[in-house]
Amino acid sequence: MTIAMASEKELKTESNQKYVYLFNEVDQAQEKMGGSWEGVRSLLGGKGANLADMTRLGVPVPPGLTVSTEACNAYLEAGEQFPDGMWEQVLEAIKDVEKAMGKKIGDLQKPLLVSCRSGAKFSMPGMMDTVLNIGMNDAVAEEMIKRTGPKFVYDIYRRVIQMFGGVVMGVPDEVFEAVIEAQRKAAGVKSDTEMSADDWKVITEQFKQIYKTYTNEDFPQDPLEQMKRATEAVFKSWNGKRAFAYRDAAGIPHDLGTAVNIQTMVYGNISDDAGTGVAMSRNASTGEKELEGDFLMNAQGEDVVAGIRITQPISDLQKEMPNIYAQFEEIAQKLEKHYRNMQDMEFTIDRGKLWILQTRDGKRTAQAEVRIAVDQVEEGLISKEEAVRRVKPEQVDFFLHPQLDGEAVKEATQIATGLNVSPGAAVGIVAFDADTAEKWAKEEGKKVIMVRPETKPDDVHGMLAAEGILTSKGGRTSHAALVARQFGKPAVVGVSELELDLIGRKMTVGEDLEIYEGEWLSLDGTQGIVYLGQLPTVVPDFKNPYLLKLLGWADEIRELGVWANADYPRDAERAREYGAQGIGLCRTEHMFFEAERMPIVQKMIMSKHAVDRKEALDQLLPLQRGDFEGLFRAMDGLPVIIRLIDPPLHEFLPSFEELVQDLADLKVRTQHYHTLSEIDAALAEIRVKQDYLERVEALREMNPMLGTRGVRLGILIPELTKMQVRAIFEAACKCSKEGVDVHPEVMIPLISHVNELKTQQAALEAEAKAVMEEQGIEVTYKFGTMIEIPRAALTAGEIAEVAQFFSFGTNDLTQTTFGISRDDAESGFLMEYQQKGILADNPFASIDPNGVGRLMEIAVADGRSARKDLEVGICGEHGGDPKSIAICHNLNLNYVSCSPFRVPIARLAAAHAALADK
Ligand code: PEP
Ligand code: MG
Repeated sequence: MTIAMASEKELKTESNQKYVYLFNEVDQAQEKMGGSWEGVRSLLGGKGANLADMTRLGVPVPPGLTVSTEACNAYLEAGEQFPDGMWEQVLEAIKDVEKAMGKKIGDLQKPLLVSCRSGAKFSMPGMMDTVLNIGMNDAVAEEMIKRTGPKFVYDIYRRVIQMFGGVVMGVPDEVFEAVIEAQRKAAGVKSDTEMSADDWKVITEQFKQIYKTYTNEDFPQDPLEQMKRATEAVFKSWNGKRAFAYRDAAGIPHDLGTAVNIQTMVYGNISDDAGTGVAMSRNASTGEKELEGDFLMNAQGEDVVAGIRITQPISDLQKEMPNIYAQFEEIAQKLEKHYRNMQDMEFTIDRGKLWILQTRDGKRTAQAEVRIAVDQVEEGLISKEEAVRRVKPEQVDFFLHPQLDGEAVKEATQIATGLNVSPGAAVGIVAFDADTAEKWAKEEGKKVIMVRPETKPDDVHGMLAAEGILTSKGGRTSHAALVARQFGKPAVVGVSELELDLIGRKMTVGEDLEIYEGEWLSLDGTQGIVYLGQLPTVVPDFKNPYLLKLLGWADEIRELGVWANADYPRDAERAREYGAQGIGLCRTEHMFFEAERMPIVQKMIMSKHAVDRKEALDQLLPLQRGDFEGLFRAMDGLPVIIRLIDPPLHEFLPSFEELVQDLADLKVRTQHYHTLSEIDAALAEIRVKQDYLERVEALREMNPMLGTRGVRLGILIPELTKMQVRAIFEAACKCSKEGVDVHPEVMIPLISHVNELKTQQAALEAEAKAVMEEQGIEVTYKFGTMIEIPRAALTAGEIAEVAQFFSFGTNDLTQTTFGISRDDAESGFLMEYQQKGILADNPFASIDPNGVGRLMEIAVADGRSARKDLEVGICGEHGGDPKSIAICHNLNLNYVSCSPFRVPIARLAAAHAALADK
């Protein structure tokens, strides 16, 4: 080779940049992108990369090629000009596709028909364009009819005119659809599948006319011209209005470009040994390792998805085409192994041959997510960490969802069955459209079951507002099923016994049962059963073995402890069952709110004299002791933090306004008394009431939330907190004597100055010691405080010299840091703040990282430098919020404490935080 020739070749290669990749050239694409799979997705788009990857795995994908995103960008940059050599590369590559299929574009005997689809790096569903059946023309149609019959041929011919007309030439789709609608009426049929060959022939002719009227040209007969113009149209669609708006909304960059996939068409409606379907590699409802899906023989993909025809379960394919089923099963396993996740696959059987059109990670219920993750660890497919990471904390919530009460179900009237596509129980009144469902649920607070023939994206607001969803049509992969599952709404779909009369606002079940809008129904989404009436529900058994295993792995990973807020022994037992490692907050005032205790508490607060107060406290002591004994027994071996009384005083006071009214009434009545003794008795009563009123007035506060609460109450009425500490230690000593391993921790709330703590703690610790001495037994204990006022956080160093533990009361800390009332703000301006973007999150739901979080950081650092082994936790509502749990992990807290029902969620969220840290 001469030097001149070599440089000429180099130049040629440079100007001959590779723009086109056959599906079996993925290695070249990957090499070009430095081995990166992300790079391949950028170059070939998500769809192209996926098809090529499946081809590389040996999965039967209809052959095709991808024109790269680089070509699209070059085309758009050059003012809508294909880059040099690109089209020639397409023509070259098509020859390979023709060879692989033994067909040829435009050939009359063996015509190759292709689709032309967009495919960007990130999925933009429905935003860009597709043309199917490219390669069809009059001559091809005429020959093809002889082999496949006219109905099929005219149906696909009219589709290419319609799609090419719309995508390439901008002919409005409604015009085409109106023709189909008119023909349906003329033929007296309801659905497209019932149309005859003649109907489609008439439609095809009319479509050609429409095309000509709108474009001033005949529908192009040259297959390659169709292909070229469709490719150009897909490139241009990247900058279409819809695509642009979608990218803006989804945050997808505008300079990525789209690839174009040109792929052999295969048909599930070409013959009786053809079919099409969608299936998951595992059961998407339960997670069981079995294929799950639907298919239809002699049908097109959209017939399955739209739920127009009642589909057959995939297991029927095993009986009808055992070889195809076995092949599909093998492919499903191969794809699962490769993607290390459950797959959702679209397939078509074209005259006895199986083709896979698409695969992606399958959507699934929470139950399935957990089971699949656990099973896949046990199959050696993924690690425990990956399994834990895969399950979202909120998904654990679904295990705590109600189910229909088993006893009530035995007596209930079962009216229909359908597909059990989303588990859990839903009980509500029937609403026949999304707006009604939303209105009834949101504005009127009613529980609603939304009933529709099938659902569409327009119905989602109603589905979200409803308790559950019921449809008469649709399969496991129908819109209703997918959306319900995603949002954890119980759903039963494809209930063919239901006949909906949306005008008459009623539905008929079977022969004669009529149910009107507003009447009650109960759904069992786990089993796919519909019951008449309003059945009671029960909390499900949390002991799902897969969940327990997964949570066990989460426990191995997490560094944060998970404790619970529990006020009563039964809550503590539940918390422990859910995995709580301690009680982080027992709000003792909740024990006072019980009906028979309230008058005693009032008496204690209102009494002016020590003897009266002592009497009340003596009555309360055994009651409190009993409460604490129950808690210690339930939490045998674990720490129990008991917070001393902390409600705003007004919660215990009688109503001032009522007392004023009462006194006024009494005075009026007295004016009508005549006898001296009546008057004397009335005056005595007035004096007592007047006294009482004065006492209430003296204790009344303008701002009770910022008033005599927390430690201030203890300082004001020292006998009260002393009684509580006595009750705690008497209970602890008693339990300890009986062999219970007790770890009481006394928590003093709402301090802002170390001196408050010093005063209270000294008095209370002396009382604790006195009790232990009386009882002749020592128990280990701690005294500590809540950090819930900014001043406490800022002076944490001083406070930690006294306190052995801190617990962040982030409800009050948020209130006092922002200076907004925790009782009013959430229903008021906070919502407005979030809508206007002034606050990204509700700070009462998720810790405000820069303000409250910063105070916490200071408190942890200063507290621990004063006392190395300072135990630090959180017991505000944020303790059960995954985002806040991540903040607590990063702050190195010892534990988070949350309500018992959130304990499992917190265990998983804490593991996620630890994994994110690694
Ligand atoms: C808090 O303020 O966060 C807290 C746990 O205490 P309470 O909600 O009882 O005021
Ligand atoms: Mg508080």
